[in-house]
Parts: sequence; C-alpha cells; structure tokens
Amino acid sequence: MSSANQQTLVLIKPDALRNSLTGYVLSLLSEFHTGLRFAATKIVRVHTLLAGQHYAEHQGKVFYASLIDYITGRIHYSHEPEKQRVIAIVYQGENAVNTIREIAGPTNPHQARDERPGCIRSLGTLVPFYDKNGSEAGTRMENLIHASASVAEAEREIKLWFRPNDIPPSMRIYPTVCSTEHFYFKDNRLGTTHEPGTVCLVAPGDSVWQSDYEILESTLQADGVSDAIGLVAAKYLINEAE
Ligand code: ADP
Ligand code: MG
Repeated sequence: MSSANQQTLVLIKPDALRNSLTGYVLSLLSEFHTGLRFAATKIVRVHTLLAGQHYAEHQGKVFYASLIDYITGRIHYSHEPEKQRVIAIVYQGENAVNTIREIAGPTNPHQARDERPGCIRSLGTLVPFYDKNGSEAGTRMENLIHASASVAEAEREIKLWFRPNDIPPSMRIYPTVCSTEHFYFKDNRLGTTHEPGTVCLVAPGDSVWQSDYEILESTLQADGVSDAIGLVAAKYLINEAE
C-alpha cells in the first residue's frame, strides 16, 4: 500500500485528560503541524476487555496490571468513574505512523526529556507501583499518548478501536464486507440469536472489517468460542453500559 493514505491510531491517555493537556496535545498533532488529516475520533470508556486486547503484547510483564489500570482511567480518576475515558483518534496521510511517533517521542518520559525536549512524552512522568505487600515492584510510565508503533500495529489497533462506519467511506483503507447475519455476544460466546443479556455486535447490512468477519464466521463454526473473538467483540462493546 502507498504511504500517502497511511493511518495510525492515537490515544490521548487519562493522564493527559486529568492534567488538561488535551488541547495542547491536539495542537501539536494539528493538521497544520503534521500534514496529516483526522479520519476518525471518539470518546471511549475503556472496557477491561479492550484494554487487554490493546496491550496484549505486554501480558505477563511486571507492569501489565498497572498498565491496564492506567489506560482504563482507574488510576487518574479512581473516585470519578464517570471521567474514566480516553480520546481515540485516527490520523491519515503520508508516513502517518512515523510522523506521529516522532512528535510523541520516546516511550520513557525521562528519556524523552533528555533526548527530545519538547516532544509530547517529555511532559510525562514515572510513577512507582507496588506489589500486594506494599513493596515497590517497578515504575509505571505515564506518557500522555499512545501512538501506533508500526503499520501492522496501526491496522490491528484501528480495527480494534473503530468500526468501518466510524471512518468516512472515502478514507477507509482496510477492506470491509456487508454482513448477511446477526451476531450476538455474551460471556465470550458468539451466537446468531438474541438471548437475555446478549449484545448485538453486527446485524445484516452492517459494514464490518473483512478480517473481523472471517473471525466471526470461524468462531460460529467453532460453536461460538474462539481465542480471537475478543479482538472483534471489544470494539462493539465500546461505550455499552457494563
Ligand atoms: P509505546 O507506547 O511507546 O508503544 P510500549 O508498547 O513498549 O511503548 O508500551 C506500552 C505502554 O506501556 C507504554 O506507553 C508505557 O505506558 C508502558 N510501559 C512500557 N514499558 C514499560 C516499562 N518497562 N515499565 C513501565 N511501563 C512501561
Ligand atoms: Mg507500543
């Protein structure tokens, strides 16, 4: 694919919201400064399922649990659950992934300050976290934004956070299909009929990422259970009442 229409995912994380840096971050990421264009945006209450899918590569690491607490907003808005959310944005344009990573800067805020003063993450901080016994177990990085690290990660992440219809048709770069079936979801199980408590993920006529549709169909063939179904379902549960 040409890099002219490349897309990347940005999340404005809860520490940026908490510190009212949203407007500043968006200014640094403006169409004027980046040469990129907005393709989609939404406010998301981050479900634990979505957080786990987004950070799947970090499962098992010592900082994983605190990373999930961070991205779900439980750290910065522990007493204000109504404020636990992130702003998710798709940017599009020439070399979008690297352009945004450059403006974000290094993952570690201290390294960002040393190497790239002025980048977004240079405004972040390191915070210790503790184990069950109260001993310091490591340091959490609060670095204000997420930015996709590669073109492949951007595709996985954009499909995880956005439905096709969240993006104007002329800006979509991943193949879609039109569903011919109903898909309902509850307790990690997929079905084709409505039962009490199920959520309708997809109805006939809905546009669906083609790669998601393949997972939906293969999960049905496996009696409604698969390892991959969470990757699809998470986005359809965004902002559903829990
Ligand atoms: P990036 O966000 O730059 O892509 P990673 O994918 O490696 O970085 O990590 C995801 C997030 O997890 C980081 O943004 C940071 O908040 C946190 N993180 C990464 N590495 C560590 C670490 N060694 N200790 C604590 N937190 C970390
Ligand atoms: Mg990463």
